[in-house]
Amino acid sequence: MKKRILVLGAGFGGLELSTRLAETLGESVEVTLIDRNDTFYFGFSKLDVMFGLKTPESIHLPYAKFLKPGVRFRQEAILAVDPVAKRVTTDRGTYEADVLVVALGADYDFAATPGMADATEFYTLDGATKLGELLKTFTRGRVLISVASSPYKCPPAPSEAALMMHDYLSTRGIRSACEIIITNPLPAPVPPSPETSRALLAAFAERDIAFIGKAGLKSVDARRRVATLADNREFTYDLFLGVPAIRAPKMLEGSGLLENGFVTVKPKTLETRFPDVYAIGDCAKQGTPKAGVFAEGAARAVATAIIARLNNQEAPVTHRGTGSCYIEYGAGRIGRVDIDFSDPENPTGVYYEPSVALRADKDNFGSSRRARWFGL
Ligand SMILES: Cc1cc2nc3c(=O)[nH]c(=O)nc-3n(C[C@H](O)[C@H](O)[C@H](O)COP(=O)(O)OP(=O)(O)OC[C@H]3O[C@@H](n4cnc5c(N)ncnc54)[C@H](O)[C@@H]3O)c2cc1C
Repeated sequence: MKKRILVLGAGFGGLELSTRLAETLGESVEVTLIDRNDTFYFGFSKLDVMFGLKTPESIHLPYAKFLKPGVRFRQEAILAVDPVAKRVTTDRGTYEADVLVVALGADYDFAATPGMADATEFYTLDGATKLGELLKTFTRGRVLISVASSPYKCPPAPSEAALMMHDYLSTRGIRSACEIIITNPLPAPVPPSPETSRALLAAFAERDIAFIGKAGLKSVDARRRVATLADNREFTYDLFLGVPAIRAPKMLEGSGLLENGFVTVKPKTLETRFPDVYAIGDCAKQGTPKAGVFAEGAARAVATAIIARLNNQEAPVTHRGTGSCYIEYGAGRIGRVDIDFSDPENPTGVYYEPSVALRADKDNFGSSRRARWFGL
């Protein structure tokens, strides 16, 4: 009988894992990939939507185009996961597996920050679209980009939003009538790379953008337009760009997989404490930042381990925790930092100055995955 591999979630991690398995194992295994949505889109596309560079409709990549040998996609909502029986219940039925991989990403925890549910944010596609509309009529005042708590998705994204905002407001000729402030619980924009953080802080200084680090968000009052930081400092604002807190999907509560809001794994192998159950990406405590490139790296490691096991070979430990993050500097320029979390206690980062040439690199990052996963 064919081995049954169940992949929960078709985001960065689930798509790359299923692709790798299909490439090597093809029809010899039965891979089932489940996601509640019918399309995927890159997280960074939300910045493009907010600043009017892309329409929300144009960024969707339909799962109907995810066609791989040995893989079937099911659009269903997962309701419960039993890691002991390796059984998953969806709104349509029940699946049993020989190997289970949880790649469900992180959900936004709006309730964790009082007032966040009523405030504007750019981390969901709806939120970015709505802010894009508000920006069109925004002419003066304070833009406050505020990160609720850490970890959050894509650590450089608030910095990118500030630099792109500067560009956007400058192009409209209203920059001098506006102020841009970032508040972030992290001590620096990209802590694993002091060089990147220094470069970003210099870029902020050049553009008169204020960065307030070590400052979590306690609450936000959208009616009064006031954000209160964890140390009780208050900031009034005219436009709020919130970054909500995250946690693994609530549905996993009670499964025995979660600890302090995320799935516990051995960072080098991505195994949970349940045999033949792995977890990758934003839902897991995999020892790296919450970003697509790291979910993808974890997927590669788990694919290697599964393929080795099915060939009765010892599974090599391959999760290295490395990845490249692109940083939008505005005006079409992109920087890059190559992050290395192979020693999670002492992460490092190599920084590449922003350039127009790196834009081609980032475009290729998106188009290569689009082609690899969706054949588009
Ligand atoms: C503004 C912004 C900019 C970003 N920029 C970058 C960037 O430049 N580079 C980068 O690497 N990362 C970036 N990211 C982060 C990146 O999007 C995430 O870290 C990445 O998507 C995580 O991958 P994942 O596979 O763990 O989860 P996801 O990609 O979130 O996939 C999880 C999937 O699980 C599905 N799912 C969840 N619960 C259920 C359920 N109950 N039933 C069925 N399906 C379910 C979801 O629908 C989803 O498709 C950015 C994020 C944001 C918000």
